[in-house]
Amino acid sequence: MSSASVAVIGSGMAGMAAADRLAGAGVACEIFEALPEWGGHTRSFERDGFVFDDGPHVSFTKDEAVRELFTRGAEQVLEFPANITNYFRTHWITHPAQCHLYGLDPDLVTACIADFVRAQATPPKVETYQDWCVAMFGKTFAENFPQAYTRKYWTIEAARMSTDWVGSRMYPPKLEEVVRGALVPDQGGDFHYLSKFRYPEKGGFQSFMRAMLRPELLRLGKKLVRLGLAQKKLTFADGSSSHYEHLICTMPLPELIRAIDPSEVPNAVRDAADALLCSSLVLVDVAIARADLSKHHWFYVYDEDISFARGHFPHMLSDYNVPQGRGSVQLEVYHSKHKPLETSAAMLPERVVGELLKMGILRDKQEVLWARSREVQYANVVFDHQRTAALAVLEPFLTDNGVLRAGRYGDWAYHWTDDSVKSGWRAADQVIAALGRPGA
Ligand SMILES: Cc1cc2nc3c(=O)[nH]c(=O)nc-3n(C[C@H](O)[C@H](O)[C@H](O)COP(=O)(O)OP(=O)(O)OC[C@H]3O[C@@H](n4cnc5c(N)ncnc54)[C@H](O)[C@@H]3O)c2cc1C
Repeated sequence: MSSASVAVIGSGMAGMAAADRLAGAGVACEIFEALPEWGGHTRSFERDGFVFDDGPHVSFTKDEAVRELFTRGAEQVLEFPANITNYFRTHWITHPAQCHLYGLDPDLVTACIADFVRAQATPPKVETYQDWCVAMFGKTFAENFPQAYTRKYWTIEAARMSTDWVGSRMYPPKLEEVVRGALVPDQGGDFHYLSKFRYPEKGGFQSFMRAMLRPELLRLGKKLVRLGLAQKKLTFADGSSSHYEHLICTMPLPELIRAIDPSEVPNAVRDAADALLCSSLVLVDVAIARADLSKHHWFYVYDEDISFARGHFPHMLSDYNVPQGRGSVQLEVYHSKHKPLETSAAMLPERVVGELLKMGILRDKQEVLWARSREVQYANVVFDHQRTAALAVLEPFLTDNGVLRAGRYGDWAYHWTDDSVKSGWRAADQVIAALGRPGA
């Protein structure tokens, strides 16, 4: 049995940031990671010279401390203006779709504009994300675009979602923009919350984490399966165990609650953990013999008969992501208990290649060098109407029992990588303050 002063569970952005901050302040800590590799969702995978991330990952943080950390890790950082597009019923339309209806069925465009005008004239009563979409875009656009996309990406109906995650992620257009976008294919303008982004030149997105890598702190292949709160004891799947003085958890909240000794978990806490919803994801990585697949970095797909919600081109992020002259695309197929997979993960590569041919991204099946699927159990924390109430039960229980949480799945929030890093730093600072140490 080992004994870590501070145990950090998980080696993603949040866990690595927490441990780096603790070690910098001279606090003894260990990172326990279930997988044989570090990096969590920000791992990058290489095969035959093709680099794929764990879903599309680019950095658009404005936080100076995180930018500096990522620059130190990657050494060479590339910066791009984001070039995004949308696919809707055989049409490619400029992003964002609400400002670029040009070229679509005239009846649909007319209905979108008429409904937009009606919505603007109606005082909004917004209780759900669906209400928000109708109030901001009008009923026809809402139904055909964000509500259809919600089913594909969030795996539930927009009416079942809250609005507390929206922030600047969706652009509410002005009437002039909707009308002009129906008349010209691209009206320019800076509509997306993400207009510029950064990406490491070499090694995929994971390189951004390298400045936090302290191999001596990593305990890989240590999946936490039992947490004794009173004893402050961690037991791992391989049978080993460890004691801690302070604990920072970045593993998914429902799994954390299930790992706690059942005698220490009130029923209300167990029920709250069971109420949390997260989507899962099958990623389909496709290695392609040519590079001229698209001028865009990524695209959204609204058609519900196409399996994937989004796709991106890793070779457009760095030349080092592919062998010379080759191209690559990665597609995201989301599912959950509310939206089971229509096609098994094993069969998805074949289906996806057929869909890419139909969409015109591929010209010929022969240009596919290989295609594979990878399963990601935890993808997007779903902001359904249960989430806030469930967190209100879980948070005090964990705080009272000395469990600090961090990261996208520990905080159960819509964290980008910078939020995850900062949450790791915050948790570490709480420990440092509790120990009465000066900060890092
Ligand atoms: C598809 C997708 C695309 C994204 N795109 C972007 C983007 O473009 N830009 C951006 O900034 N952010 C993006 N994000 C968000 C970003 O991935 C997260 O904010 C960040 O990676 C979360 O880091 P984390 O450390 O909180 O969690 P994770 O990376 O999930 O780390 C948690 C770690 O805990 C480990 N673990 C789990 N259970 C146990 C256990 N029982 N015992 C021990 N270890 C355990 C896991 O293996 C994992 O390594 C995206 C997320 C997804 C899903």
